[in-house]
Amino acid sequence: MKQAVLIIGAGIAGIQASIDLAQMGLQVYLVERSPSIGGRMAQLDKTFPTNDCAICILAPKMIECAYHENVHLLTYSEVITVEGHAGNFRISVRKKPRYVDPDRCTSCGECVEKCPRRVADEFNLNLNRRRAIYIPFPQAVPRMMTIDAEYCLYLTDLEKDRCRLCEEVCQAGAIDWKQQEEIVELDVGAIVVATGFDPYDASVLEEYGFGRIQNVITGLQYERLVSASGPTSGELLRPSDGAHPHTVAFIQCVGSRDINHNPYCSSVCCMFATKEAILANEHDPELRPYIFYTDLRAGGKRFQEYITRAKDEYQVTYIRGRPGSIGENPETGDPIVRYEDTTARQVQEMEVDLVVLCQALVPRYGQSEVAQLLGIVLDEYGFVYTPEQLLRPLDTSVPGIFACGFCQSPQDIPDSVAQASGVAARVAELLLIGERKFEH
Ligand SMILES: Cc1cc2nc3c(=O)[nH]c(=O)nc-3n(C[C@H](O)[C@H](O)[C@H](O)COP(=O)(O)OP(=O)(O)OC[C@H]3O[C@@H](n4cnc5c(N)ncnc54)[C@H](O)[C@@H]3O)c2cc1C
Repeated sequence: MKQAVLIIGAGIAGIQASIDLAQMGLQVYLVERSPSIGGRMAQLDKTFPTNDCAICILAPKMIECAYHENVHLLTYSEVITVEGHAGNFRISVRKKPRYVDPDRCTSCGECVEKCPRRVADEFNLNLNRRRAIYIPFPQAVPRMMTIDAEYCLYLTDLEKDRCRLCEEVCQAGAIDWKQQEEIVELDVGAIVVATGFDPYDASVLEEYGFGRIQNVITGLQYERLVSASGPTSGELLRPSDGAHPHTVAFIQCVGSRDINHNPYCSSVCCMFATKEAILANEHDPELRPYIFYTDLRAGGKRFQEYITRAKDEYQVTYIRGRPGSIGENPETGDPIVRYEDTTARQVQEMEVDLVVLCQALVPRYGQSEVAQLLGIVLDEYGFVYTPEQLLRPLDTSVPGIFACGFCQSPQDIPDSVAQASGVAARVAELLLIGERKFEH
């Protein structure tokens, strides 16, 4: 039994599993595809049902994980081969070059100021633009710059002789054009999959006008808009004219619980829409939030009370009905929501200043490639299949490979953390107690 674990994905689930396993004395290799650990939670403003600041809770966990002596971070990296069996897997990981020396970069930001190339900022869901040299968000771990080779003018040959401005201004001498892709070989006893989710492409539901009507945005975009570190420094401004909205409609089940898209419930949207509506009213007590819902699913601890508070203290109106379409007032840019209020049994229209689509949440891009590498089975929707759902809900179809968090089924942060700690216990059972006992 190799006393080491590979964890794929460093969202809150992967981070929690890493900390728990490292504390037990196992060596943890945490592989994260993007330049920083943190996952989706880093993009959230507050968290339901307590309205705690997401990054204030996450950042200390990120630091604890990254600086634990038993955790080895492999960011900007992806697993490329997997061989072996429970207790003894051989893994290779491809580490992409950042073209920045981690020992020298102080992340002062001088290079970012001077970089002439602007590209869509994926962390802020394309609401603004970032530079080709960048740090994804202020609390990123590791805290260092990355040169995006896809866009850098020097690396893409567009301005081979002229650019290199980042190198010129970097007083620490951290820019390193000679960096190459690295292949890292690892021997581990167990593997944890924690690859999380992506939002479903809302533009596929053409009737809702996402991508066509400027003031129709998504739930994650809304999180970035109200976040102090977001593109508007936390001011809720609508995209078309930068005006403060006075009415906001949140639409649930956009591509979820819909046989034409994803039949399953994405599980967290009833509650995050409630949170986002509360935040809207907190930003401006005159603002009126409306939530269009299919059923309100408030099964978690204190969730029903949260909804009651939203109604009683934050002027949130819940309307039972799934809108059929969203139009646009050509003069004002206001979205017009057409819906049937299924409680009042009336077909109605509502003109609002802003619409937020709470779209389905689907397995992360590349999940099927990860599954193929590991030989694990996915379910019909692409989430990790756990055959013994009742008594071993964290075990995949391959012994020694476990899954936690959103990659195995839609779930919120507390459930992802609980599963991560559960996975750590399963791995410890296998690696510290032994295979024979593990089987019984
Ligand atoms: C708009 C919105 C608001 C929300 N609000 C709340 C809230 O208030 N409270 C709450 O409890 N929950 C909320 N949630 C749900 C919450 O975001 C998830 O429960 C949580 O992020 C799940 O964590 P995770 O670690 O499983 O996945 P993720 O956060 O998605 O992390 C997965 C990580 O794996 C990495 N990864 C993926 N594939 C690979 C690969 N092949 N190789 C290496 N790395 C990979 C990704 O880059 C990412 O860093 C919200 C969700 C949305 C969409």
